[in-house]
Amino acid sequence: MVNYANELIEFEGCPGCAYHRHEFTLPCGMAYENELINMSQDWKLPIPGFFVITPNRHVEVFSELTEEERNEIFKIASITIQVMRENKICDAYNVIFEEKKNCHFHVWLMPRYEWMKNLAGNITMNIGAIFSYAKENMRVPETYQKINETTMILKRSLEKGN
Ligand SMILES: [Zn+2]
Repeated sequence: MVNYANELIEFEGCPGCAYHRHEFTLPCGMAYENELINMSQDWKLPIPGFFVITPNRHVEVFSELTEEERNEIFKIASITIQVMRENKICDAYNVIFEEKKNCHFHVWLMPRYEWMKNLAGNITMNIGAIFSYAKENMRVPETYQKINETTMILKRSLEKGN
């Protein structure tokens, strides 16, 4: 698979587990990790402020998460959205919990930007069109720079807050 900057990501087995073990990395680096969860810019989508939280443990469905993991995911999601708002990166988010067979459980923090509304109208209904647009049109140095900055802002806030 390729990352948001169109570079090849190589790993063996489950990508979520490999990322937790730092077997591959992203140009922007990890935004946050602790003993339960980790969070990064979405690996594949060149959309600044789009973060993915995963439990470190290989879990496939929501109900397999421990109470501690659930609490941590909600806490980090809430802080992240607040930090993005305070830093005027994005003021509205959709939070998506994705369960897929044979896939490491993850939570998407998806920013809702004006350009998405202009492009797709109802963002939730047209999520595929937004992702395709981003992959085709936003793989540019300005986006990568913004992703680095956004990750850095979040990293600093989480280091301070925890
Ligand atoms: Zn896994």
